[in-house]
Amino acid sequence: MENKQSPIIMWFRRDLRLSDHPALSAAAQTGRPILPVFILDDLAQALGAAPKWRLGLGLEAFAQSLSHIGSRLILRRGDALTVLQNLITETGASGVYWTRAYDPDAIDRDTRIKSALAEQGVEAKSFAGHLLFEPWTVATKTGQPFRVFTPMWRSVQGREVATPEGVSSIKAPLNWPTSENLTGWNLGAAMNRGAAVVAPFVRPGEIAAFEALHEFLDRIQDYSHDRDCLDLEGTSDLSEYLSLGEIGPRSVWHAVQRAAMNGTQGTDAYLRQLVWREFAYHLMYHTPRLLSGNWKPGWDTFPWNTDADHPSVVAWRQARTGIPVVDAGLRQMYVTGRMHNRARMIVASYLTKHLMTHWKIGMNWFADCLIDWDPAANAMGWQWVAGSGPDASPFFRIFNPLTQQEKFDPDGVYLKHWIAEGQTKPSATAVAYFRAVPHSWALDPAENYPSPVVDLATGRARALAAYEGRKTG
Ligand code: FAD
Repeated sequence: MENKQSPIIMWFRRDLRLSDHPALSAAAQTGRPILPVFILDDLAQALGAAPKWRLGLGLEAFAQSLSHIGSRLILRRGDALTVLQNLITETGASGVYWTRAYDPDAIDRDTRIKSALAEQGVEAKSFAGHLLFEPWTVATKTGQPFRVFTPMWRSVQGREVATPEGVSSIKAPLNWPTSENLTGWNLGAAMNRGAAVVAPFVRPGEIAAFEALHEFLDRIQDYSHDRDCLDLEGTSDLSEYLSLGEIGPRSVWHAVQRAAMNGTQGTDAYLRQLVWREFAYHLMYHTPRLLSGNWKPGWDTFPWNTDADHPSVVAWRQARTGIPVVDAGLRQMYVTGRMHNRARMIVASYLTKHLMTHWKIGMNWFADCLIDWDPAANAMGWQWVAGSGPDASPFFRIFNPLTQQEKFDPDGVYLKHWIAEGQTKPSATAVAYFRAVPHSWALDPAENYPSPVVDLATGRARALAAYEGRKTG
């Protein structure tokens, strides 16, 4: 018979919440003590500067949430299996529960851990929670994973989404194992001085996530129009919370459905975007090469620039391309850790097409700078813009950044917000960019705004000629 006092280790990863948490609910339902643990393993260590810093803020907020219900977050560093085995020895734990992850490295790690723990007689269980639908449960009529978004959206639109369940209390163990100190982990080390600039734009934690959701529900009726406007706060800003699991997608789905039932407009447009997130995850799960190489292999021979230190790529990274809307998007990312979706598409199109630079260079830069970094959405976003991805925008559809700006920022509000050069009284946000970037870039808001690193018409013609020459598909 199982010892009712033997704890269950609840291994938290990208699910830093108490609500909508099937693994935690299942652990609580056993009636046994729960030991919440976060492990700084190789995968967490490998995060880019901004997501790693944001993870630290998330862990701090989550530890507080746990303390409010009489629990703690135990922090340990090292190989995840070794850490778990040590904790099992120290505490007599007989189970380890976690929420599933879907990227190939996490799947490899979790599979290895599951079989090693099972071999030593420890119950190792993984649960849903990061997605609306598990990737193996959504398929075309012929049983294949969807490779085109719209049919997938149609197929899940009427589907039941599990009702979120959470816990309000969890049983504490009689004795707590030791924990490392979050400050000692120094998760913000690689952010340098950028952390102080980005911090005012971040409200970490589950409570803040629900506040953001409810604030957004008050304006969701305008979403389908406003979401594209660079000069408006038209979107939900939930991505960083979804990325770290500070809110679960099922909570968001049900809250939006409730608004729809009350007759609120705009809800379908929003749920559709939430399903783009699913689409990205399902693609990553079924075709993990989404993260590492051209999803359409025909693109392997495309003559991308692969030199990340090419002067034009350096200018792009430094947000000094001389194309204001491109630089504005990149500066927004530097100052807030996020970038408007429309701007993401514009800067990605400019890098991959006008500068003909490999999408992986841009994807990696985003992975270093975005606090809402998400492996699936980032890779899919870049491959979608570059043309190499599933259901991608065709390569020959080259955004003209000037037309994009006229259309989505007609009064130049977004530009004024982010570009200081040439303004007599630049906004605080535009100046903040100069405080966020490394000293070594030696940038000054009083300098002249740079001339374009590439003439837009020339860049476009060069990209189209390369595309025609390759006959890629
Ligand atoms: P909303 O418009 O309010 O959308 C609600 C939620 O739906 C988002 O929080 C997000 O989870 C999901 N979503 C919306 N659009 C997309 C999309 N195109 N693809 C996948 N999911 C979507 N999103 C990330 O979360 N992390 C990334 O690292 C990321 N990198 C991107 C890179 C590129 C090149 C591009 C073009 C897009 C990327 N996106 C990424 C998708 C999208 O830009 C962001 O999800 C969105 O801007 C986040 O703002 P929001 O929460 O206000 O979005």
